[in-house]
Amino acid sequence: MSTETGVRVEDKLYQNRYLVDAGQAHIKVKPHSKPSPALLSLIKACPAHCYEINSNGQVEVAPDGCMECGTCRVIAEGTGDIEWNYPRGGYGVLFKFG
Ligand code: SF4
Repeated sequence: MSTETGVRVEDKLYQNRYLVDAGQAHIKVKPHSKPSPALLSLIKACPAHCYEINSNGQVEVAPDGCMECGTCRVIAEGTGDIEWNYPRGGYGVLFKFG
């Protein structure tokens, strides 16, 4: 997708940086055997593609590139499918503006 100036959104997002808090995932998928419709929708809804389905048919999250947009929180926290917290201070996305 391009902006009005011809710059691709993906190229702009590439400018962001992430400080990964190893072993302290700020989003967790609750254990499940069969994913709910809400969980499955996250695979397409997350703009950072943090969610994917594994070989057992379960939805997993790898929140290292999370932009903290809150989309998955709106969709699946209320259903009990995920636990969502902000990263600890100093970790997570570092937005580059301009
Ligand atoms: S908060 Fe946004 S970017 Fe982060 S995992 Fe959820 S949907 Fe993806």
